[in-house]
This record gives sequence, C-alpha cells and structure tokens, in this order.
Amino acid sequence: MRFRCPNCGSLSCVTSAEHVLKIAPTMYAKCQACHDLVLQKTDAINLSDISFNDLACTNCGRRPLDAVMAHILATSVQRKDRPKLSLREVGTPLLSPGVPTYAPPHIGYHNLLLLTNQRLIADASDRILREVPEVAGVIFGDTKRVIGLAYSQAQPHTCRVLAGCDIRADLVASAYGQIVIYKSQSKIHIEHDNAVKMAKLGALPVSDRVVLDALAGPGTLGLMSVLMGAQRVILNDAWLPAVENAYLNLRVNKRILGIRTIKRAPMTKKEFDKAPELFCTATTDNGVIELYHGDFQEFNIQDSRVDIVLVDPFPGAERQFNALSEELRKKHPRVQVVYF
Ligand SMILES: [Zn+2]
Ligand SMILES: [Zn+2]
Repeated sequence: MRFRCPNCGSLSCVTSAEHVLKIAPTMYAKCQACHDLVLQKTDAINLSDISFNDLACTNCGRRPLDAVMAHILATSVQRKDRPKLSLREVGTPLLSPGVPTYAPPHIGYHNLLLLTNQRLIADASDRILREVPEVAGVIFGDTKRVIGLAYSQAQPHTCRVLAGCDIRADLVASAYGQIVIYKSQSKIHIEHDNAVKMAKLGALPVSDRVVLDALAGPGTLGLMSVLMGAQRVILNDAWLPAVENAYLNLRVNKRILGIRTIKRAPMTKKEFDKAPELFCTATTDNGVIELYHGDFQEFNIQDSRVDIVLVDPFPGAERQFNALSEELRKKHPRVQVVYF
C-alpha cells in the first residue's frame, strides 16, 4: 500500500510498514552479478579511475555505495578549479529506508538521502538529483548539531532540503516485533541505532498499562509500546513536524499495530502554546493511542492515570530532562518514570 508523501505529495516516498519489512532482508544485498567497490574514504580519490555507470549491476540495477558517493562527488566537481574532497567529506549517506545491512550496501533507485554540509555539493544538488539515480534527496545543514527541537522553549535547528524529498524511514526492531518509523529528515534528529533503548523498553511492564511517551518525536518508543500490549499509549511532542511524522507512522504501521480506526482531531490552536492539544486518536483491538502536540510538563499525569512515563531526550538536553524526571518521580511516586 502506498501513501501520499506529506512533504512532497508524491506516491513514491511512503509505503506500508509490511512492505518495508518484506523487502528489508535483501534490499541492499548484492546479487550474483553485482560488482564490488570499496574506496578509500578519507583521502581525495582519483575520480577518472572510476567508471560509475559500468558499476551498475545488469541484473539488479544496484551499485555499491562507494560508487554512488563517487558519482555524487564527480557530479559536483566538474570544473577543474574545484577543491578536492574525500568521500567522507561529501556528506552522510542515509539509506532510505534504513534497514540493517551486514555487508557494504548495494543501492538501488531512490534509496539514498544525502546529508551534506559542503557548499560545493549543495551547489550541485539539482544536478545530483538528476544524474545520480540512487539519490532521492539532498539536505544541507550543520551535520554535527542535533536536528529538531531540543526542548519546548528552544530554537529548533533544521536543515534545508535542496533537492528531492527528505522523508525516509528506519526499521526499528525489538523482542516484540518490528515497526517502521518515517522521519522528515531535515527536521528530525538522526538516530543510528536504538537497540539499547529497545532493550530497556522491552524490560518494562508495559502490557495492559497506560504509557506516556513524553518526548515522542516520530513515535518510536510509543508505537513499540503499542506492540508490547499497552492498554493506552499517549504520545506527546512539542515539535509539530515530529507530531506530524508520528501521525504518518500510525497510518503506515496500522496493520502491524492492530489499529482499527485513526481519527484526526480538529486543530484549534493557531500558534504553539504549552498545553498539549490532541492531534489524533487511534483505536486498537485492546486499547487506545492518543497523539498530542504540546509541552509534556503541562500534561495531567494524575487525571490520565498514567502508569509509566518514558523520557527520551535529545543528545545534549539530558541534564535538563534528568532533573525533570527526578521532579516527576517525587511528585508522582506511583508512576514509573523511565529515563532513556
Ligand atoms: Zn516525498
Ligand atoms: Zn546485482
């Protein structure tokens, strides 16, 4: 099943979680006819030695990741006077969708999103999108800073989508199953590996409980809590792009989560104020999921009969939320506050 992309409107960016899970195991694997290429990443390479198009597999059409990155670089440095960059300096290649790979990945059509902080690459973004078939989008920004909104009063840090579309998905696995989490990658922080978080979540007594995913982002912990049998899951975030992504993720994972209905709430707020406002409600076979946009500190934990609060802050905002978690524990001794 295909969904209309909330960012670019096309029907080719977003597909159902079942479909992603089905193709994931072989998505970036090389076939018997595939070519291998592993290039030096940290020194400038001699681009004239690499014939990019010859490295596309005649059977499956994929190319080794390094061939795609070298093609991106060659497309960007067509003039002789341009500085020489190493492959690493080109940017961060994000697999789209991001699924586990156990060998150097071989990339197919539109399966790569490039995040770069190089002006040289940024200037060529339209040409890259046109000429390098694996690239679905180019994003420009400070790759060292955490993308998104660190806390409700902070200034959000976002990157710029220069070409194509920035939506991409990550497969998230736990002992309870797998879900697929889509993100508007220019506005949502990149999470490379959440195995540790999933193990921590998996050890909690979530089944039949009321769970508040207080800093939900695109919904990873909250949606996994649904899969773990929570009776009611409340997702909340102060960053509207994250809330919109979480809404998309409820729809994309509908069947996997056993969701029967999803109902969008009418938006009444014109501007962000702290009080969480209901964004949508979903019903499952054994419970309810609610998605809110607001500051979780304004959330009425008592009245909502919350059993477990999940606090998963941004890298860099840990101190602030650690103190907040302590406060919550003192105020609601019966509630289990879990800091990730
Ligand atoms: Zn799109
Ligand atoms: Zn092949």
